[in-house]
Order: sequence, then C-alpha cells, then structure tokens
Amino acid sequence: MSFLSQVDRRASFLIGAALALVACELFSQGEPSGEGSGGSAAVSPDVPGLSKAKRTPSKQGPWAYVLPVDHGVRADGSGKGHFRAPRFHGEHNGIDLLAPIGTPVFAACEGRAMAGASRSFGRWIHLVCPVPPGLVRSGNPHASFFYAHLNESKLPHDRWVPVGKGDTLGTVGKTGNAAAASIQPHLHLELIIQGSLRAALDERHLGNDQSSVPEAVAFLRALDERCLEPHGFQPKSGALRRARRFDPFVALTCLSHDKPSFVPAPEPLEFASSAWSKFYLARGFNVDRGPDSLLLAGN
Ligand SMILES: [Zn+2]
Repeated sequence: MSFLSQVDRRASFLIGAALALVACELFSQGEPSGEGSGGSAAVSPDVPGLSKAKRTPSKQGPWAYVLPVDHGVRADGSGKGHFRAPRFHGEHNGIDLLAPIGTPVFAACEGRAMAGASRSFGRWIHLVCPVPPGLVRSGNPHASFFYAHLNESKLPHDRWVPVGKGDTLGTVGKTGNAAAASIQPHLHLELIIQGSLRAALDERHLGNDQSSVPEAVAFLRALDERCLEPHGFQPKSGALRRARRFDPFVALTCLSHDKPSFVPAPEPLEFASSAWSKFYLARGFNVDRGPDSLLLAGN
C-alpha cells in the first residue's frame, strides 16, 4: 500500500493541517541527538520514502517481525538481552535483538509512529497500533512498541505519521546507553499494552513506571488461550509480563509469520548472542526457525 493511499484512509486522524506544516518542520526538527556513535543524522523525514523501503512480508499475520535477519538475543560482556533480565535498575523491560549497525528495522504493525532521542534510549521510534481484534476482550486496547538505540530514523521527530506493517522505520545502532564499546549493536524493543489509543500515544516507556492496566492482563489471557497454550509455547522463565509490559518476542511469534530463521551473527558479533531456544519452549514448532504457519488461527 502506498503512503498516499494510507493517508487517504487515515484522513480522520492525520489532519490536513499537519501535512501543510511538513515543509517547515523538516528543518526545525532535524538536529542530531549528539549521543550517537557517529552515524548519520537523526532525522530523514522523507516520509514517502517509507513506502519505497517497505518490505513485502512473505507470510501473513496481523503483525510483522521487526528485522530482516535473526541473530537472536544479545549476550555480551555487558549483560543479557532477554525479557526481564537482571539490570542495575531492576529488570530489563524489553528484548535486545542483536544485529549489525545499519540493519533496517520494520514496523511491527500498521498504525502511527514518530521518532525522538533521549540520553538513555538514544535515537528511538515509538509505534502505536490497535491490538488485533481477535485478542480484544473489551474496550479499545492499543499496543505501544518502542525501538531504541537506533543509528538513524526515517521518521520526523515529535510528530505522528501513519506507517504500514513492514515499513522500514530506521536502522539498528548503538546510540544512548548502548554506546559503550562492550555493548554490541542491537535493537532494544519494548511492547506495552494500554487501554486506549490516547494512553498508548501518551506512553513514555519510562523504566521507573511499572504501573499496570487491566487491558495488559486481558491481552496476556487472550494470547495464552489463542496461542501459547495450544502450541505449548512459553518462556522457560515463565515471565511473560511485567506490569503493563509484555515479552515482544512472544507477541511477534504469535501474531506474525515472517521471522527469519535464526543464524549466528557474522563476525565480529558471532560471540554476542544466544538462540531463542535457550529461553523459550514450544510444542510443534522450532522457536529459532519460527512457526511454519500463523499460530493464531482465524486472524
Ligand atoms: Zn535492552
């Protein structure tokens, strides 16, 4: 789907005035964060370029995997990247997907996204989309994905734009607190379930906020019934949720069907990752290769 057709369909929330402001905003929001590892400028707000760079998912599902390669979970001298891994501040709030700097990162779902930068997350992208209808028990829950430590972003800062599932949002990097030499490049990916579109758009993904919402609990129950239990799929730790946060690998495995097979990372990163099978179990499919068909039937 082209960018323009997306705009047509989403005219109700992408007000024309916002488009009219694009030209001046391009030049007011382009400053790099200054925290990067020497990559290109933080902002390349040529939004129509998103559709040109869009991956064509080879398999279908409500959501899509976020990388074109799979080198598993970061495991280097500075720590481990699995969900709820120990951290000096408590626990890891997402997963760290090891990948070389410059690897494209894709939108996990169709929704709206914007870019930004901060001292700890480096260059980040915030993506919001509805929870797939088959997993909604009540209300209007929305997913809030957070991509951090990016080398570059293809989205404007501080302004929501529509994105399609599989669109290229930016590239893997080492910005923010991943800049240390001992930390290998990776995508830090978080998934929070919020009770409304407004709450998902306002979500800041701050580590010191561990509040929960009923919709996050309901999402876990629905996914458990529709995907985890039928396929004997579970993290060996048993930890799927942390307050309103959810394990992104589990959600993407249940809701997408295009994860590349795990392969060891190329040198010099080959020492720095663990395969998914170290952390997850499944009955009937190989968690490193990914399922052969969509686990969530009927969506
Ligand atoms: Zn991380």
